[in-house]
Amino acid sequence: MIIRKSPAEIEAMKEAGRLSAKVLREVGAHVRPGVSTLELDELAEKLIRAEGGVPAFKGYGGFPGSICASVNEQIVHGIPSADVVLRDGDIISIDTGAIVEGWVGDNAWTYAVGKISPEKRRLLEVTERCMWAGVDAARPGNRLGDIGHAVQAIAEEASFGVVREYVGHGIGRAMHEEPNVPNYGRKHTGVRLEPGMVLAIEPMINAGTYKTRAMPDGWLVVTRDGRPSAHFEKTVAVTEDGPVVLTCEEGRRRPV
Ligand code: MG
Repeated sequence: MIIRKSPAEIEAMKEAGRLSAKVLREVGAHVRPGVSTLELDELAEKLIRAEGGVPAFKGYGGFPGSICASVNEQIVHGIPSADVVLRDGDIISIDTGAIVEGWVGDNAWTYAVGKISPEKRRLLEVTERCMWAGVDAARPGNRLGDIGHAVQAIAEEASFGVVREYVGHGIGRAMHEEPNVPNYGRKHTGVRLEPGMVLAIEPMINAGTYKTRAMPDGWLVVTRDGRPSAHFEKTVAVTEDGPVVLTCEEGRRRPV
């Protein structure tokens, strides 16, 4: 069942979204060679708790961190570790969320560590563009397939692979609600988008094959061919006036 939120509930979700976005930005500002993903995780938890939030990921299904930290060929769900130390030329997807007043925010961004290759630079640019196209499609009158199609068209035009096994999701009082939000699809197909739906739109785009491999720790997912992957995510409300980005500190609540 898709749980639609009232305008007042969407207003309430903005606080979880604001904190999630602030934490992501501040943690992202600490990305540099020599930093471990555990240090970034500890910073995220401190920042979330400092404003009375609860890390949405910590303990979720047994996940140990407040962020997912996924480096280079790692697609999603990397467990933060003192042993994973960022190096010049890496890219890192940081995915984090906060719970405030029982509402969940969820967002991700992929950062460059120092100077990255032209291929990685292009992957980041294209994947961010995929995300904004998906956000822009989250409006009444469209269907879920329009979001997936918008993402897929941009990724495949760039000859990148669109991850199939992991998708976006509805979000509200739970981090994962219905519906699933695939990053692929056909126009004018799937569930009709209606005001009050809140969706986490999160393209996961690979430089090479779309195929993935799940690692034995039960969390980490990597690309099958070892080439890099990028991941960007916003929590977005579908409203009468179009998409409203909730994971946003100020300004930029609109997709363009
Ligand atoms: Mg998500």
